[in-house]
Amino acid sequence: MTVASSSSRIIYADNAATTKLDDEALALMFDLQKNFFANPSAAYKLSRPLKKILREAREKIAACINAAPHEIIFTSGGTESDNWAIKSSVLANLSERPNIITSAIEHKAVLNSCAAMANLGCSVTILPVDNAGAVKPVDLQEKILPQTKIISVMLANNEVGTIQPIKRLADIAHAAGKIFHTDAVQAVGHIPVDVKALGADMLSASAHKFNAPKGVGFLYLREGLKLAPYIDGGGQEFSRRAGTENLPAIAAMALALEKNCRLMNATAEKLSACTKTLLDCLRGNDIDFIVNGGENRLPGHLSLSFRNGEGETLMHRLDLKNICVSTGSACDSRQVKISHVLQALNVPEAYIRGTIRITFGKENSREDAEIIGKHLTALQRDCA
Ligand code: PLP
Repeated sequence: MTVASSSSRIIYADNAATTKLDDEALALMFDLQKNFFANPSAAYKLSRPLKKILREAREKIAACINAAPHEIIFTSGGTESDNWAIKSSVLANLSERPNIITSAIEHKAVLNSCAAMANLGCSVTILPVDNAGAVKPVDLQEKILPQTKIISVMLANNEVGTIQPIKRLADIAHAAGKIFHTDAVQAVGHIPVDVKALGADMLSASAHKFNAPKGVGFLYLREGLKLAPYIDGGGQEFSRRAGTENLPAIAAMALALEKNCRLMNATAEKLSACTKTLLDCLRGNDIDFIVNGGENRLPGHLSLSFRNGEGETLMHRLDLKNICVSTGSACDSRQVKISHVLQALNVPEAYIRGTIRITFGKENSREDAEIIGKHLTALQRDCA
């Protein structure tokens, strides 16, 4: 994707950090913000169309992940959804010293929620991953305790793109009578997500990762699952999540998700062409690097580690060429320390510091990939 700037074209290839807002979603948001300002909860007729818009957005989103509309609860995004799923699953039973099981490569929204619960007396079990970043189902099987209250493993990793064997993990959780949550923030809108086929009891999603606005998302809550509200207040969202709904953002999220799901196959093909172009260019120029995250990864997602490289330096040098990539997850980009994800994958010592994440989005072209490949090749040769 290229961004117009006053001086030159910028290639944005950091779509795992956030995506560009879809034009139609933006137009819808603008229209709703300007012309449908009433509170959706009000009883007068001015609010009636808003109730309908809210209902239709919920229906559209539910259809995209094979859920029922009342199983979709709108939140402020992935962080809130993760906090809610994890904290509310254990807060009611703190006196029993509940256990939480999660993986070593989760986003900080999950890991720090677990850490906060550990401070209140919960025990937290961290599952390792293999070199590709996948949790082994047998590890989960062995770690479940009688006092385990929730198991949370992400669907797709935000740094290396690895897709986890969620169905097998959820089956193990259910066989032991446990609740299974998945952080699907990087997956929803990019790969097929079917909550029934996955067997998830709870699933977190964030709109800004699929060309919708920032600050909005949802938590899928399987029908019948009891989860105390995390945000208390009024009776919105079936009395499960209080706060006046951000209707323009919610409607835009539904529009963008439906569109991304409709175009998913074509987009995946295009993204694969971008990654292939970039990898071919680097390999064709004998650049010494490895691709992290195994074969089963998100389309368009590349975590590359260059031998004896310095990820921070590469990122800044590419920035000087108007190319946006990141060194790890966006939230970590000011920290120079090696990410917990790369450490968990055991990326070899000679490569680990030279890691950058390039994540193509639907607006990127093969030409963008060629330009990135050319600059990366030149930068690596300069350093050799
Ligand atoms: N979970 C994952 C896997 C993410 O990649 C992110 C964002 O980077 C989040 C959670 C947090 O989502 P949000 O930015 O909507 O709070």
